[in-house]
Amino acid sequence: MEIETTIIGAGIIGLAIAAELSEAHKDIFVLERNETFGLETSSRNSEVIHAGIYYPEGSLKARLCVEGNRLLYDICRARNIPFRRCGKMIVAVDEQEEEKLEEILARAKANGIEDIQRLSRRDIRQMEPQVHAVAGLHSPSTGIIDSRRLMRHFVAKAKRNRVNFVYHAKVERIDKLDEGRYDVHGAYPDGETFSFATRHLINCGGLESDILATSMGIDIAASGYEQHFWKGRYFSVDVGPEFIHRLVYPVPQPANVGLGIHATIDVRGRMRLGPDAEHLPDRSYDYTVDRSEQRAFFESVRRFLPSIRYEDMNPEMAGIRPKLQRPGDDVKDFVIQEETEKGFPGVVNLVGIESPGLTSCMAIAKAVRCKLG
Ligand SMILES: Cc1cc2nc3c(=O)[nH]c(=O)nc-3n(C[C@H](O)[C@H](O)[C@H](O)COP(=O)(O)OP(=O)(O)OC[C@H]3O[C@@H](n4cnc5c(N)ncnc54)[C@H](O)[C@@H]3O)c2cc1C
Repeated sequence: MEIETTIIGAGIIGLAIAAELSEAHKDIFVLERNETFGLETSSRNSEVIHAGIYYPEGSLKARLCVEGNRLLYDICRARNIPFRRCGKMIVAVDEQEEEKLEEILARAKANGIEDIQRLSRRDIRQMEPQVHAVAGLHSPSTGIIDSRRLMRHFVAKAKRNRVNFVYHAKVERIDKLDEGRYDVHGAYPDGETFSFATRHLINCGGLESDILATSMGIDIAASGYEQHFWKGRYFSVDVGPEFIHRLVYPVPQPANVGLGIHATIDVRGRMRLGPDAEHLPDRSYDYTVDRSEQRAFFESVRRFLPSIRYEDMNPEMAGIRPKLQRPGDDVKDFVIQEETEKGFPGVVNLVGIESPGLTSCMAIAKAVRCKLG
């Protein structure tokens, strides 16, 4: 059996690519090791439609986030996917932090975000009475989305265009054949194995995408594809509706690992705090959240939301970021690489697809479509 295009992974990235490619390509298979789509990082995140504020100018993260932001709002409106263009505040609690706001503003402008505005203490008080800060920035084009509904939209579109989804199918090895074809080997949970040949192979394996690249013979250390797991926990906060009206972020701390524990709301109006960022050196799928971190979350958010009550907080969930950076490294960009130069024509590896991967998913899918021609 020979398949034209195989996509490994039915997270938001694999699904967006399946939906996009299905407009022009026939004979597409999506292989997913879990029982259904979107059970890993794509359902363990903040569901924020980022504006593209923080990423280095010219990076894929900056470019695809800005493009993806527009594409997501368009698809939400066209397909009735729940979203809110609620906006976001970045707040400084002292003069030192206030200075950093200028850097953030300059980077946002360099990334083409024209609608971001400075906020005075008074503006903040008026817009978000619960927030205490000396100054801030307002990003009106940041929002929130029901990411499950977005994934359902991609699956429905792909199925309409005859994409085949195979669940419980874990890819274990990829062998290069002659003339730009590949043998994909894998197994089902009962131990039965499968293998077939494919022309195009798109690796959207999320936390496993570097392992999958290794299995096809790519030197991931030399290519800069080695992923490092960074856990992000969330606590829910049981507050009344309208406690905050938009997302509220602190000024990011210098370690380059996260945006700082912030306060978000989802499309149903529920508020939560997080995520933090903890490196998991053993690459374990550790999604536990217990009370031991509650005090640290509380103290960090209380700096700008002083009326938060400790007893209203509850452990909620965690996600794991597949970062290309170790502790102390500089921020690394997404890898979206067609591998002809490495001797693997027709293979596209997507590695290090951490935040803003959800926001960028449709722009990433268009970029992959261009690479395949
Ligand atoms: C804490 C946290 C908060 C975040 N917040 C935001 C946010 O607010 N906004 C934003 O834009 N982005 C956010 N992100 C990033 C976003 O969630 C990810 O970029 C995105 O979900 C990645 O999607 P994916 O499809 O690459 O990965 P995944 O969702 O992990 O999908 C990969 C799929 O591949 C499958 N797979 C792996 N190996 C195999 C194999 N061998 N065989 C078959 N299938 C396999 C997995 O089972 C999985 O379903 C956040 C991430 C985290 C962790």
